[in-house]
Amino acid sequence: MRFTYITLFSNLIEGYFQDSILKRAIESNKFEVAYLNPRDFSASKHFKVDDTAVGGGAGMVMTPQPLFDTLSTLGDETHIIFVAPVGKQFTQNDAKRLASKPHIAFVSGRYEGIDERVLETFADEVFSIGDYVLTGGELPSLVMTDAIVRNIDGVLGNSESLEMESFETPLLEAPSFGKPPIYEKMGVPSEYLKGNHSKIQALKLALSECKTHYFRPEQLLKHKIRISYEK
Ligand code: SAM
Repeated sequence: MRFTYITLFSNLIEGYFQDSILKRAIESNKFEVAYLNPRDFSASKHFKVDDTAVGGGAGMVMTPQPLFDTLSTLGDETHIIFVAPVGKQFTQNDAKRLASKPHIAFVSGRYEGIDERVLETFADEVFSIGDYVLTGGELPSLVMTDAIVRNIDGVLGNSESLEMESFETPLLEAPSFGKPPIYEKMGVPSEYLKGNHSKIQALKLALSECKTHYFRPEQLLKHKIRISYEK
């Protein structure tokens, strides 16, 4: 799988791939990354990529020509994703679906955003990572990349960890506890220590339900789940 980042600031993205799981995944050819800078495609004398907005308004807008010329170099098989606060909310389902694409290009906006004609011409999808405004699209592109590549076979050491995670089912993951079983006088649920697998699973389900009820009650409504201690 390949990711191309269309960004004015590739160094903001590159650092994230220089350590830990994603570094190892690149070294073992699970995916590869490339960068294109629209400034390199600017036809203007001073490599300008932004201008004031037609019709007025605060701030600068990324102009169409550098981005049209950048995006025209991508092959037809490229799935082009723009990141923008107005996009649809990116979810775990999207992360899983996009992991089967051979080539994804992420287009990062800066300033007040990108000329709408660029999106109309090139966007296969437009995603937001949440209802807040960031200074640029580099972090959203990285957030989505990280969530996607975890679903590529062999990227995570233990593929079971994917199955049990939050959002793989409508319930959030049950609380986890590492060793030691008692730390600073705080214990773990005693059932976890007794080794009865089916009782541990039942307790984990009940704790998942509690956690979902507390943190994300709308998930229970959406999936019409009645939690077991209400039944
Ligand atoms: N004027 C735009 C608006 O009100 O929708 C915001 C532009 S923002 C300052 C600059 C760029 O950051 C956007 O073009 C987009 O690429 C990125 N961005 C900011 N917040 C984002 C979010 N929540 N999700 C995805 N991308 C975001």
